[in-house]
Amino acid sequence: MINFNVPPYVETAMDYIAECVKNQKICGDGAYTKKCNQWIEEKTGTAKCLLTTSCTHATEMAALLAEIQPGDEVIMPAYTFVSTADAFVLRGATPVFVDIRPDTMNIDETLIEAAITPKTKAIVPVHYAGVSCEMDTIMDIAKRHHLIVIEDAAQGIMSSYKGKALGTIGDYGCFSFHETKNYSMGEGGALLIQDPANVENAEIIREKGTNRSKFFRGQIDKYTWVNYGSSYLPSDMNAAYLYSQLEIADEINEARLGIFARYMENLTELEQAGKIELPVIPEGCVANGHMFYFKTKDLEERSCLIDFLKERGVHAVFHYIPLHTAPAGLKYGRFHGEDKYTTRESERLLRLPMYYGLTLEQVDYISQQVKEFYC
Ligand SMILES: *Cc1c(COP(=O)(O)O)cnc(C)c1O
Repeated sequence: MINFNVPPYVETAMDYIAECVKNQKICGDGAYTKKCNQWIEEKTGTAKCLLTTSCTHATEMAALLAEIQPGDEVIMPAYTFVSTADAFVLRGATPVFVDIRPDTMNIDETLIEAAITPKTKAIVPVHYAGVSCEMDTIMDIAKRHHLIVIEDAAQGIMSSYKGKALGTIGDYGCFSFHETKNYSMGEGGALLIQDPANVENAEIIREKGTNRSKFFRGQIDKYTWVNYGSSYLPSDMNAAYLYSQLEIADEINEARLGIFARYMENLTELEQAGKIELPVIPEGCVANGHMFYFKTKDLEERSCLIDFLKERGVHAVFHYIPLHTAPAGLKYGRFHGEDKYTTRESERLLRLPMYYGLTLEQVDYISQQVKEFYC
């Protein structure tokens, strides 16, 4: 069976984790956490990066920093992972879902403005498959309406929009290092902060509402409880696992892009024959090979194809169930405007195996099975 995903692993991880254990430095904000933060800051150009326990938690931190209050509204797509909405629902806010564009599966930027009300506080663009949303338009809307932009860049590390790293365009950006993402620490994430004025508060929230970070830098002589907060620090052992991949991030990225390109090349004839639709990467967007998907005719054809591939040893999957149709989505959120594409396109989307270590021979084999299904 060719798995859908295999978590990334680089051999140096074992040495780095052993070093943490031997030095008895396994709690948060150790040497490897610092190295990861610094690496992300240098690579993306963000003002500040704070490693977190997940992307879900990074988004929760952003919601706290944005001072989201009960009754506030936050605009986002319904075609996304639950965490995008959860972070704001936890603060008592209402997710207002807007339809997506069928080409990139990202929020349709032309529909955002009509969804704004006096209660709207933030926009949360989700860069699906590591392909950027139309950020110039989104940032312009946010500026004119004084809204905060929190990028769900869970899938977007190493991707860019008009030369800017995803996660660094809005006020806050959130990365995921879950085992299904391009770079992993098992469970983990990062919060990217653009305005240095927000950094101190972010450090406090991440350290249970204390000014402990300042204390460790020697800026104060004792630390105390200064604000609300929680514990969003990952263990340094997890950071060590991640750092081993960040050191060879370009190599991992190239390998993923190579797999993506090979799928595209192999399946172009099916698209030309009108059987499937391949993903689109708009001009100005540089992607990261986070996933390879294509679209079938409809739900029924997709189900048949998943079964067909399974029989031939290929694990293909689909996602997401649009949030506005889920029980919690119905309870906590609302859809603004018409659901023209969200449900329909989500039912057609199929993801093929994609991970660091998948060989081009395997990609050819998988592509061949897809072609046989359609011939
Ligand atoms: C993976 C993912 C998340 C959640 O990431 P965790 O690190 O598991 O919390 C959030 N949003 C999107 C779009 C994702 O793909």
